[in-house]
Amino acid sequence: MSSGNDIRATFLDYFRRNGHEIVDSSSLVPHNDPTLLFTAAGMVQFKNVFTGNETRPYNRAVTSQKCLRAGGKHNDLENVGYTSRHHTFFEMLGNFSFGDYFKDLAIELAWNLVTKEFGLASDRLLVTVYSEDEEAAALWRKIAGLPDERIIRISTSDNFWAMGDTGPCGPCSEIFYDHGDHIPGGPPGSPDEDGDRFVEIWNLVFMQYEQIDADTRNALPRPSIDTGMGLERIAAVMQGKHDNYDTDLLRAIIEASAEHSGQAANGEHAVSHRVIADHLRASAFLIADGVLPSNEGRGYVLRRIMRRGMRHAHKLGSKDPLMWRLVPSLVSMMGVAFPELARADALITETLRLEETRFKDTLERGLKLLEEETDKLSASGSLAGDVAFKLYDTYGFPLDLTQDILRGQGRGVDTDGFNVAMDRQRAAARKAWAGSGDAATETLWFELRDRLGATEFLGYGTETAEGQI
Ligand code: ATP
Ligand code: MG
Ligand code: MG
Ligand code: MG
Repeated sequence: MSSGNDIRATFLDYFRRNGHEIVDSSSLVPHNDPTLLFTAAGMVQFKNVFTGNETRPYNRAVTSQKCLRAGGKHNDLENVGYTSRHHTFFEMLGNFSFGDYFKDLAIELAWNLVTKEFGLASDRLLVTVYSEDEEAAALWRKIAGLPDERIIRISTSDNFWAMGDTGPCGPCSEIFYDHGDHIPGGPPGSPDEDGDRFVEIWNLVFMQYEQIDADTRNALPRPSIDTGMGLERIAAVMQGKHDNYDTDLLRAIIEASAEHSGQAANGEHAVSHRVIADHLRASAFLIADGVLPSNEGRGYVLRRIMRRGMRHAHKLGSKDPLMWRLVPSLVSMMGVAFPELARADALITETLRLEETRFKDTLERGLKLLEEETDKLSASGSLAGDVAFKLYDTYGFPLDLTQDILRGQGRGVDTDGFNVAMDRQRAAARKAWAGSGDAATETLWFELRDRLGATEFLGYGTETAEGQI
């Protein structure tokens, strides 16, 4: 069986042999783009190379990029625990051409890797192309010998990839693996495509444009290639599993969670173990990249992820903080490929332990209040906004934590009511502040804060911690 670590190494080596420079993963905190919350794809560190604003000593590169999809345009937080293929933190394997090769070689390299090096059966594979991209469809017929019914044309944004609201973008072509008809779900483009039977493993983006603003899209100086394959997804396929969480990459953490909580890994608590494993990876890698839990910006996303994980530890009946105990299983799995993780081991462990210890009491009290309140509701009734706000304000429950808990009961939250309560409190805080000193300065401060958004201290030395800028 190929381990996750072997698959990563094979990928990097295959593209190195094909003339690509192996480049380190960049930080989860993008250093070249203030518009992005987190690095959500392999191309982010090369954004300025695609647009022609930066040059590198190579025009072909290969990476295994740390990605986080929680918050921002790419957000999979709500999928974790519900699908077999989504994580908040995952690794994206990718090869890149900066004005060098384009569609034909990209398709050929990808097809040869999956069918020859990785040995996947070609009759399990199907591809999508952007509906207007006849060229790509013809190349798949020619290079892969795929019949027309397995080259699916898609006209939606699923086959037009964009980094964010602005930045490089282009039509794309995706490779899907059919895990078999015992799993529910339809092929891409069908009404039940969101099932987990046909899993997208690799996206080949034909980078041709730069989105400048909502109305302007310019051609890039040179057509380029950007691809992304989820390591955990290809590992599932190659390890004969259907589910990413059954791969060696996640399994070690799930087992550690089972051991330390005393609850079996499979069975009634399976979902909690999976969420904990995912959120532990996300938290640890964020901390290693210099993000610390806080009430704003990236730090708040981290705090929300940690607290969601802690709620699941509570569900497992854990009396003591749990997540910090799982750090060694993660570091032994990924610490060689990502030395920054091993280096930050103590910081990760202590940050988790402190945050868990601090939140434990309020979590319990908040859950009790929530239970009392939901007991008063009809079977599917929504939670009142002011109760959700009280949980947020007094018990430190981020809104999405409350929503996540209620989702399991088929309930929602009155978010309008929550926002009204939040605005009311902000106004009260402003008033109290304005009465206490130099009104002009304070007004200015609040105005600036509203206009610029909250800023956040990410810690010194995030660059050195990851070995690059
Ligand atoms: P999906 O449609 O399954 O949500 P996507 O189209 O959003 O995936 P891309 O943006 O095309 O994904 O990213 C490239 C590749 O990264 C995907 O083909 C997949 O293999 C992997 N990937 C994307 N999102 C995740 C995730 N949340 N967890 C694990 N792997 C992911
Ligand atoms: Mg997605
Ligand atoms: Mg997709
Ligand atoms: Mg995709």
